[in-house]
Amino acid sequence: MGARPPRARSPVPTWYLAQNRPVVARSKKRRSSPSNDRVSDGSDGSAVPHLNEQHYLGEIFCNRSLKMRSIKAIGFDMDYTLAHYKADTFETLAYEGALRRLVHAGYPREILDELRPYDPQAYIRGLVIDKKRGNILKMDRHKYVKLAFHGFQRLSKQERDALYNPAAVNWAAFNEPDFAVVDTLFSLPDAFLFSKLVEFKDQYPNLIEKPYEQIYRDVRRAVDLCHRDGTIKRRVAEEPAKYIEYDPHLIPTLKRLKRSGRKTFLLTNSLWEYTNVVMNFLMGNPPGLLELDWLDLFDVVIVGANKPAFLTDPRLWMYRVDPRSKEGYLSNTEGVIDGNAEAFLREGKVLQGGNYTHLQEILSLNSGSEVLYVGDHMFSDILRSKRQLGWRTMLIIPELTDEINEMLRSEVDRQRLREMRLLRDELDEMIDRAEWELHCEYERSEHEADPHADPSRRQRIEALRQSVETAETELREVKAALAAETERYHRRFHPVWGQLFKTGYQNSRFAEQVEQYACLYTSRVSNLRFVSPEITFRCMSDQCPHDRLHESPMRRILERRLQVVQNVSDLDAASS
Ligand SMILES: [Mg+2]
Repeated sequence: MGARPPRARSPVPTWYLAQNRPVVARSKKRRSSPSNDRVSDGSDGSAVPHLNEQHYLGEIFCNRSLKMRSIKAIGFDMDYTLAHYKADTFETLAYEGALRRLVHAGYPREILDELRPYDPQAYIRGLVIDKKRGNILKMDRHKYVKLAFHGFQRLSKQERDALYNPAAVNWAAFNEPDFAVVDTLFSLPDAFLFSKLVEFKDQYPNLIEKPYEQIYRDVRRAVDLCHRDGTIKRRVAEEPAKYIEYDPHLIPTLKRLKRSGRKTFLLTNSLWEYTNVVMNFLMGNPPGLLELDWLDLFDVVIVGANKPAFLTDPRLWMYRVDPRSKEGYLSNTEGVIDGNAEAFLREGKVLQGGNYTHLQEILSLNSGSEVLYVGDHMFSDILRSKRQLGWRTMLIIPELTDEINEMLRSEVDRQRLREMRLLRDELDEMIDRAEWELHCEYERSEHEADPHADPSRRQRIEALRQSVETAETELREVKAALAAETERYHRRFHPVWGQLFKTGYQNSRFAEQVEQYACLYTSRVSNLRFVSPEITFRCMSDQCPHDRLHESPMRRILERRLQVVQNVSDLDAASS
């Protein structure tokens, strides 16, 4: 008998496994954990996708081609980028803290009972909060509001159209100060708390007299204070495994990128004390053990970065942090880099604040296009860095795993929807053709001395009218069935808000922003382990409607008309 091969060591620390036994059968997850991805966790010695199932494998998608060879520095945000928080526990912590703060600030004590418990599944990213009206909206890429709720009460199409038609709202706006976009997972407790308070105020107007927009400001302030004053961070520091997902592939992925010769940096709004706790957890260290070896993963670490201002305001000053002091003792960076980045970094590479000019000087970069920045926040991380600085961007979308897996599971439903849409289009075309033929009959009769002389023409006109009427009845039925089927399909993704990337069958506003601002997007940073650090990411070819000429409904209409008349000039004559 040959010697048994050595068992591959699990990369997951044993203390973490003991505290996090696998949880079986939670029906519907809004967001994914590393265990959701259909990839090996490495415990069997492999780190490759399982290809025997139709699942998201951790692909990185490309909107704008990117040669990694021309990238000289790769930077990472920390919260929800390197560290993925567990929705149930982490968001509940923010929600509960904010609720107590609101009572402390004068809100009625009754909200402590009425507004509990927090539901982490209630909202998705990409929604827009209408602060003045107390509504939450989902819109398509044209900013057309397709779904709206007042508190938790769904608005009818008529109500929606009355409030959000182009004459009522400046569509270019849908932005601050009257609107707020839920563009980070941190904002989901805000949306839930605001909706709950809107519902509470409507029910007990004498208990909360403030207008909705003031309520929104109070909610924002309360949640923000919980993040700043240590309410959340203290608890996370005590039990990080309760609040943060552990991804065994993350640190090896970062080490590999560092080994590839590129400069790497961490750029986070979190302060030193909290950053150190989270990074130690991600390194696999047990709670309470705070070591500094994670600093070797990066050439520069910037905490308390104050994004998006860091990316736009060149006047912000930079400080050096003493990582050996627990709270992160600060000292001035006099003269700043002074043209000698190496000497500057020898003094210490953990910094606080500053701005993009400091960072690019420290990294000795000539242009923004040499930086790839990886973040989760559409506005602060991705939009600003790309627009202002020309940095290349990778957006982390943890929801992508569930979104794609559900899409793959529902292929049969999507085929049915395609067939129903085709039937609708054919009925539309049938009506259009019959109307056109009617028009031609009327035209011909106008040029005759006695238009009523030909009885067969009257019959043809009557038959055409009948067929239009029948097709219109059928069309109404097909449209109603299609709307119901589309809604049923969307409920597979989320019972209320549907698919993250779609609104109806158009791209959602969120999808539009991903396409516009993220050069690359994927579910988690460790998916970079599947490709070489020298890879060229290539995008698929863009398609305008005219690129799919033969699928165009207008093309089909014209082709059928051309079957009736002989050529295009006859068609012109018949239509004039
Ligand atoms: Mg973040």
